Order: sequence, then structure tokens, then C-alpha cells
Amino acid sequence: MDFSENYQCKYNREIQSAHFGGAKPQISLHTVVWYYKSENGEIKRNSFCSLSENTRHDHIGIFAYLQPLFQQISEKLININKVHFLSDEPTTQYRNKNMIFVFAFKFVDILKPSIMTWNFSEADHGKRAPDSIVEQVSNRCYGIQLQVVTEDSFQKIESECSVPNDLKAFKGNMSIHQITWNSNKSNTVLFKTLSCLYCTSSEICSHYHLDEMVVPIRSERIRYSEIYSSSFDKGSSFTDEKSYKRNSRLRCSG
Ligand SMILES: [Zn+2]
Repeated sequence: MDFSENYQCKYNREIQSAHFGGAKPQISLHTVVWYYKSENGEIKRNSFCSLSENTRHDHIGIFAYLQPLFQQISEKLININKVHFLSDEPTTQYRNKNMIFVFAFKFVDILKPSIMTWNFSEADHGKRAPDSIVEQVSNRCYGIQLQVVTEDSFQKIESECSVPNDLKAFKGNMSIHQITWNSNKSNTVLFKTLSCLYCTSSEICSHYHLDEMVVPIRSERIRYSEIYSSSFDKGSSFTDEKSYKRNSRLRCSG
């Protein structure tokens, strides 16, 4: 997946002042080529392009662009086991702690996989597939699914994706080329300097391990009143602060 350069809209008919510097609206394009293996073992390829007048490229924007695709995938495919992401590595977009938090919680909430990895290629490498979507979108869009992302979607995601204040930075951000997540240890993300094809996603890689990030349980970010509507709910659901914290992630993951 990748962002293309913001697309500058054109009017169907332009007067001269519009051609020479007139302000034209811009839209942002986020392209994804996604693959899955069908029941008979055949690899299926799909192209998806989401677009919006909102040109945010941070973790909120990226999730807003991906969410409609994730919804489709989760409805189309049942029992998703492994999900592998491949993108380039700009720290202002994909490779930063906020994005990794969204990866480890919000992506998981929708796709419900057992294993996820995100692999970062060097700049200008491995982008041929998503770049080809942009070329086709500029022409006739054959075989590409287009999805408009509204401003409401961005605002809704921003209200639901508050990153914990105590989320610690990790070392070697510029060296990370793979992160892995495993449902057996769902609040931990492991970082590697290179993508490893030998070690499992749950173990410390003996080849390229760099660091790990433990994502704090989100209980402190949810007000008590947002969980319980009455004293009966309070008493029947969780009997003490410890159990409340233990369960808060499950109840507030939407
Ligand atoms: Zn390894």
C-alpha cells in the first residue's frame, strides 16, 4: 500500500485564470493491492483505492483510508489467520509509534487475525503494485474498487483512536523493517531490523530482533461512566478495579 501524490482536481472547463494558478481542490489517494489464498489454493489479487478531500497522512488518516477495505475483507473472508502488510517506511506516515498502536489494536479489532506483520521496504522500493493503481485511476479505473472516505469517518476515527499518553517511544525507529504481532501476546509488538522468514511472530527473533513495545491496557483512558450505566452493571460485571482493567480492552475495542 502507498499514498500517491495528492491529486489536483481539474474543472471540466477552465477559464485562463484557473489554468494559471487558480486554487483547485486537492484529493488524497491511498492505494492497496491485496492478495488472499482461496479455498482451492489459488492466489487472488484485488486493487483498492480510497480517496478523500481530507489529505491527512498520519495514523488517523491511514486508518480512515484502510477501514472500509478492512470491513470488506472481514465480511468476505472468515477465519483470517495471517495478515502481512507491506509499505514504504516514512516515519511521518506508517513507521511511528502512533501507527503501530493503531496496528496492534484497531486493525486487530476488525480483521481478528492470529498473526500480523508489517514489513517496511526502503524508500522507493516495492511500490510498483500500488503505483500501478494510480496510473489506472488516472485513466479509466478498470478493475479497481474506488471508495470515497468522508470527513465524518476521519472525525469518528480520531475520537476512537486516542493513543495512550504513556505509550513509550522505542529505540532504533529508523532501523525497523518488520513489526510482528501475535494474538497469544496481544499487547506486545516486536521490532526487527529485517523481515525474518524463520522465526515465528511470537518469539524473540534470534536473527534481527531490535526491541519491543508493550502497549498499556487502555483502562485509564476510558471513563468509568462510559462502561457502566448503573450500579447493577457495576456490581454484576466487574467486582474490583483489577478485573475492570483486565476486561476493559475487550469491552472498549470498537
Ligand atoms: Zn529470526
